[in-house]
Amino acid sequence: MNIAIREWSKEVIELFIDGAPLPLLNVIRRYSLAKVPTYAIDEVTVVSNTSAMFDEMLAHRLAMIPIRSEESVDRLLEVDIDTCKKCSLDSDERPSKDLCDKCFVNMFLEIEAHDNEVTVYSGDIKSEDPYVKPVYDNIPIVVLAPGQRVALEIRARIGRGLEHAKWSPATVSVTRHLARIEVDKSLCNLCGKCVEVCPKKVLYMNGNEIRIRNIFDCIICRQCVQVCQSKAISVDGIDDKNILRIESSGSLEPETILKISLEILKRELMEIRSFIEELKKGGGS
Ligand code: SF4
Ligand code: SF4
Repeated sequence: MNIAIREWSKEVIELFIDGAPLPLLNVIRRYSLAKVPTYAIDEVTVVSNTSAMFDEMLAHRLAMIPIRSEESVDRLLEVDIDTCKKCSLDSDERPSKDLCDKCFVNMFLEIEAHDNEVTVYSGDIKSEDPYVKPVYDNIPIVVLAPGQRVALEIRARIGRGLEHAKWSPATVSVTRHLARIEVDKSLCNLCGKCVEVCPKKVLYMNGNEIRIRNIFDCIICRQCVQVCQSKAISVDGIDDKNILRIESSGSLEPETILKISLEILKRELMEIRSFIEELKKGGGS
């Protein structure tokens, strides 16, 4: 298997993987969206809200704010997510307070507009944990008219995208084949329509032939194939040559999302393996 980094930044990781089947990468993609834990705002106690916005809308907006979780990765992996979920139910199933302290981080938001209108931003949220706080300070939450006030007690909880998308650390997680584009010169009349229609500017005309600028940019949309009346161009995905792209919400670094996805997958595969080994020891059933 050959792996090459196509793009790597604070927001994105894109890998070209030669030799792994697409279904395997698709599992990693899905795990990155659904199984990697992060913090998200999950409980809001409204002490005061005289703004024009309903309490429920305020709570919903707060829940959509990405919460930085990278510096708390050890804690994320330590807690039992299913037990943590019971904590939020406030039911008889609620475990001990010690466990709750592991799962939750308290935050506060208190702003009053005096003489002028005030926009309340995510950066106004104060967290008891300096590392667990909104990723971005400039997300608007509500506009207060003079005399209006919000005072909120907030609890962020560890969860997974499987439970609600607000916990998903990836805003985009996609896999696709590397494209193979072929132009039959004997059929091509150089009309240039394929060049015009390509949304990724993959194709260009060079003298008397159609050329490929960067094959990695092709998203296999086949618009060029549809527009070609001479049926001169074909586009296919190449099996086992695939691209995996993960874009982070900022909650976790993109390489951390990938690493945790793989660790969870490995743990689950090991459980299956242990089960099979136990079966063999017991003589099978
Ligand atoms: S649309 Fe077809 S015929 Fe026209 S330039 Fe492209 S490949 Fe050639
Ligand atoms: S398949 Fe789509 S992206 Fe690829 S070359 Fe054709 S039009 Fe461009």
